[in-house]
Amino acid sequence: MPRDPRYDILFEPVRIGPVTALNRFYQTPHATGFGWQRPQSGAALRGVKAEGGWGVVCTEYCSIHPSSDDSPYAFLTLWDDGDIAPLALTAEAIHAHGSLAGIELWHGGAHASNRMTRVPGIAPVVQPALYHLPATARAMDASDIKAFRVWQRDAAMRAKRAGFDIVYVYAGHDYLPFQFLSRRTNHRIDAYGGSLENRVRLLREMIEDTKEAVGDTCAVAVRLAVDELHGPEGITSEGEGREVIEMLAELPDLWDVNVAGALGNDSRSARFSAEGFQEENVAFVKSLTTKPVVSVGRFTSPDRMVSQIKRRVQDFIGAARPSIADPFLPAKIREGREDEIRECIGCNICRAANNEGVGLRCTQNPTMGEEWRRGWHPERIAVYPKREKALVIGGGPAGLEAALTLGRRGLEVSLAEASDQFGGRLLREATLPGLQTWTRVRDWRLHMIGKLPNVELFPASRMTAADVAEFGADRVVLATGSHWRRDGVGVYSVRPGEFPLALTPDDVFAGAKIAGPVVIYDDEHYFMAGALAERLAAKGHEVHYVTTAAVASSWSVMTNEQDFLQARLIETGVVIHALKSLKSNSDGVAALSCVYTGRDEALPCGTLILATGRLPDSALSDDIAGAGIAATRIGDCLTPSSIADAVYSAHRFARLLGEPDLPPRRELPPERTP
Ligand code: ADP
Ligand code: SF4
Repeated sequence: MPRDPRYDILFEPVRIGPVTALNRFYQTPHATGFGWQRPQSGAALRGVKAEGGWGVVCTEYCSIHPSSDDSPYAFLTLWDDGDIAPLALTAEAIHAHGSLAGIELWHGGAHASNRMTRVPGIAPVVQPALYHLPATARAMDASDIKAFRVWQRDAAMRAKRAGFDIVYVYAGHDYLPFQFLSRRTNHRIDAYGGSLENRVRLLREMIEDTKEAVGDTCAVAVRLAVDELHGPEGITSEGEGREVIEMLAELPDLWDVNVAGALGNDSRSARFSAEGFQEENVAFVKSLTTKPVVSVGRFTSPDRMVSQIKRRVQDFIGAARPSIADPFLPAKIREGREDEIRECIGCNICRAANNEGVGLRCTQNPTMGEEWRRGWHPERIAVYPKREKALVIGGGPAGLEAALTLGRRGLEVSLAEASDQFGGRLLREATLPGLQTWTRVRDWRLHMIGKLPNVELFPASRMTAADVAEFGADRVVLATGSHWRRDGVGVYSVRPGEFPLALTPDDVFAGAKIAGPVVIYDDEHYFMAGALAERLAAKGHEVHYVTTAAVASSWSVMTNEQDFLQARLIETGVVIHALKSLKSNSDGVAALSCVYTGRDEALPCGTLILATGRLPDSALSDDIAGAGIAATRIGDCLTPSSIADAVYSAHRFARLLGEPDLPPRRELPPERTP
């Protein structure tokens, strides 16, 4: 298909200082969980982005000195010349497709843990380590500042030697140059503290130093948080954020601006932000500089992208998550296939990967992070050598992904779903507050299946073992899902109990009557209990949220949603009872117990809802096994887990069909010789 001319503007080249981007698609820096330890994995991932048409592809944060060590999280390093060759792999992989390679030089200041290097931390002032560490960063004196400027300059020169085209000065996300900028963290009384001009001094010097070091051939980008969302005491887009841009307007070659402070603000999940949510805070930047501006906002709609450019909000379409969910997003627009864009759902499972210290993963894109270790490509897959008939049962995320991937491989696929609608758990979960975008997991797969003549859909078709036998498929794939358990077994309570009066989330979705004070018991710790509490409180119920963890929906710390979520529950009037387990429920009372002391507590309870764990829906699997039919279980009916895991399980099965199921390749860190 030819490209829609409305989108031509997105494919205009844009000059950034001494280099030119071939289009306006700009993959802003984002973590991969690979870091300095796994350069080939990182290079393969970035290479696929460039192949998918992103005009600029940037790395994740790259430390300029051992005093900035984010271990155990994965980050890159340019500490000595030994780091050049491993990083050159990434620059080469990006250049192979004509894109520009950007590198985000980084110093965390009081934010760096230095757990690995054990070098004392540094900061503008003596500062307890930001974020959960029993450590203190020391105040930088004049000689430290001098040394720091040399580290940035040296790292920039190494970045240039590694082949990068855009070198960052990184003043965002609470990191060192930002700690100097914000009066919240800079209480110095010398030339680097006090007035804004003084607080900006280090950033100005870093830009000048970096330009002097590499500016002849490399563009120098500044990543700046123009609003740290701490109100007037911090950097704000109406106040000092604006003034910083005014003061430095023409100094860098590109402004990469966002709403930050903590990382979670910038990459808010869909539950707490809409597409383009940063616009109101960053839109002013373009009016103050002639240099190109880029920002992010989970952009997946080409029309909205065009609008960003035409309304002069930014010159590029910055994207991290949309490029993870669909590395080929630009290519699809370029080729008139924008209907095929696999839109990010804003679930932040990708953020969780880095926070958990593992390689990048994505709910929508099961190949993300698998480019090197399994050789998976988002757009290419081997044709299955035999002409086989596959029957997939269950049309939730796993069944849809299996049907699509088997179909792409050329099998004759039939997908049978009991309900008259496809989507499985998505049909229920996407009705929870802020989770509507999750239906994109279904919509994209149904749309792509619609293009495959060899995949047939059978809604309203509950299958029995007899039906399966009669159908006579070569491959039977079971994706029948899971249900919430009634026995209270969860993360903390491992022994089954009896709660005959309790409801499960399935009952609530099915319309069970809710009466009296509602007690929601969370012993699962992801989104379900918290989201149900929010929904019921918004409907006017008195809601008590009880969790065995210390905070609400505690695993959502990994998706950078926890603080937003707890605030939302408090604001909606939900009463939070932390660190309590559920013992019993009778006569209008839920009996709780402190997880530390065992001390009892009673809560009035009209309705008890248990969100503790799920069990596989294995009845059909048992019947089929009884009938002697071979079948493969995938997704929640094998192991109930996240939607990301269900999709991955299905994709893995379908991609490996007929292939040996080998362990993934493991990359060893290359030896660094300075
Ligand atoms: P997953 O996340 O693993 O895809 P879901 O619970 O979302 O699991 O989806 C499972 C789907 O399987 C549901 O839509 C359910 O209606 C369907 N299903 C369960 N049993 C049968 C069956 N016997 N025949 C057809 N569909 C079934
Ligand atoms: Fe988007 Fe979720 Fe994928 Fe992250 S994991 S890119 S938020 S779909």
